[in-house]
Amino acid sequence: MNSEIKVCQNCKQNFQIEPADFDFYKKINVPPPTHCPDCRQRRRYAWRNERVLYRRNCDLCQKSIVTIYSPNKPFKVYCPNCWWGDGWDATSYARDFDFSRPFFPQWQEMQLEVPRIALLSKNSVNSEYTNHSSDNKNCYLCFGLFESENVLYSTNTFNGARDSADCYWLSQGNDLMYESINCSKCYNCQYSILLRDCTNCSYCYDCRGASNCFLSVNLRNKQYVFLNEQLSKEAYEKRVAEFSAQGGSASGGKLGSHEARQQLYNQFLEIMREKAIHKFAVIDRSVQVSGNEISSSKNCRHVFDAEKTEDSTYCLVCPDVKDSMDSYHFGFSCSLIYECHALVRDNNTFFTHLSYDNAFISYCDSCHNSENLFGCVGMRKKKYCIFNKQYTPEEYKELRAKIIAHMRTAGEYGEFFPVQLSPFGYNETQGQIYMPMTKEEAMTKGFKWEELVPGTFGKGTLVMSELPDDIKDAPETITKEALTCTKCAKNYNIVVPELQLLRRLNLPIPRLCPECRYLRRIGLRPPRKLWHRRCMKQGCVNEFETPYAPERKEKIYCEACYNAEVV
Ligand SMILES: [Zn+2]
Ligand SMILES: [Zn+2]
Ligand SMILES: [Zn+2]
Ligand SMILES: [Zn+2]
Repeated sequence: MNSEIKVCQNCKQNFQIEPADFDFYKKINVPPPTHCPDCRQRRRYAWRNERVLYRRNCDLCQKSIVTIYSPNKPFKVYCPNCWWGDGWDATSYARDFDFSRPFFPQWQEMQLEVPRIALLSKNSVNSEYTNHSSDNKNCYLCFGLFESENVLYSTNTFNGARDSADCYWLSQGNDLMYESINCSKCYNCQYSILLRDCTNCSYCYDCRGASNCFLSVNLRNKQYVFLNEQLSKEAYEKRVAEFSAQGGSASGGKLGSHEARQQLYNQFLEIMREKAIHKFAVIDRSVQVSGNEISSSKNCRHVFDAEKTEDSTYCLVCPDVKDSMDSYHFGFSCSLIYECHALVRDNNTFFTHLSYDNAFISYCDSCHNSENLFGCVGMRKKKYCIFNKQYTPEEYKELRAKIIAHMRTAGEYGEFFPVQLSPFGYNETQGQIYMPMTKEEAMTKGFKWEELVPGTFGKGTLVMSELPDDIKDAPETITKEALTCTKCAKNYNIVVPELQLLRRLNLPIPRLCPECRYLRRIGLRPPRKLWHRRCMKQGCVNEFETPYAPERKEKIYCEACYNAEVV
């Protein structure tokens, strides 16, 4: 079969379906998609409220809880203890499918009745403000965080991070990290991007096996490098000491100063954009892949943030995934997944949201440890159920086929849930970060909008310009104050473990609220989009798919040219 051009039923743009895509649709017996890849991704983004948290009472035990559902949402919300407990039974919401009506309105009626889990945080200690996370201790305002301890304001942190704050994507163990992005196996690094096996590096970009380096890019197994100049140990230490002392006091040095850090940060951005050589995409130990941030993967097209991923297309944030398409934030051993969001250890799962440890389920929401479910919500350890009702395997098979035929006639089968069924306002979701829309635009397109997003304004207890420039002058009482973000004017505070970490690492009090700091980090990563471009090394004619848009100023090289220069 050849590739085929179709018109997106949503945005009316043309999009292409490749022969390999048709093979996949045929294999799982679904019709080809009617929406373009971007519209499909936006629809999945609209289901992920990862980080907008509220307080409301658990509808079972009545305790005040932290949740991703604002108090005005029309759902019953249970705290994790109650939700996972035996105090309720999802099959009590069972109903018969009505063949005189379409599928989705019936499904939505059930979704509105079955209790929802407040947020996903499992097996953690003193980490109330974490979501999509497990096995953590003393973590605060972290999302997508696993096996970590004393981590603050960080997102997508796997395999254990410790004593770190304000990071995005740390993997394979990292300690004492601050404001760092996409780093693995690092120790005591600050304001850095794409570091691997590095120690004591600050303001560095794309370095491996580096230690004691400062304001440098593209280093491999180097130490004592300052502004990409190789120094002796003594000269490096002298340089850093001189540098740190400039304008600062004798004790803390310059690095505790907000003013000095601001200049360093700007200098870092400048060397990253003007000096660094950027490989067309961050792709490691992988064959036949397109996308960005991909390692140990093969045969993938348009995947981002992938590790050990195979035979997959249009997938985002997909570690350890095989044979999947069009899915988002899923993995840790997933295979044959199509149009899903937030799965862990699932196989043969289609059109499903927030469900772990399942096989052969479709059109399900918040179902766990189950097999052979269709159109279910909130089920645990169940088999052969449709609309939360128990059937025999034979009955299940027959009824499922009948409902799918009914849905196909109505044009309902074969795609993710319509955006109108998302439990969230678009402005609460990752959609607003990666594909932002105005309220009017979102409402016109059928998305919801949340008016009550949390945030306090105008309650600051001190004038920001009077905040001590240097951390050494910040009083203990700073943790009692309401600060005012210098970017969005939202009030925020400094928590005690944060003050301790800032002092330990000689870092000034942040002037931006946690959310503005998060958005700034996201802004430093290339977008999850690809452009066809040519290598910028003079004389090279190699072409590639890159997440760097053509108008960007960075030096973008093909793999061969990058490898020739970065050694
Ligand atoms: Zn479209
Ligand atoms: Zn409860
Ligand atoms: Zn802010
Ligand atoms: Zn080249």
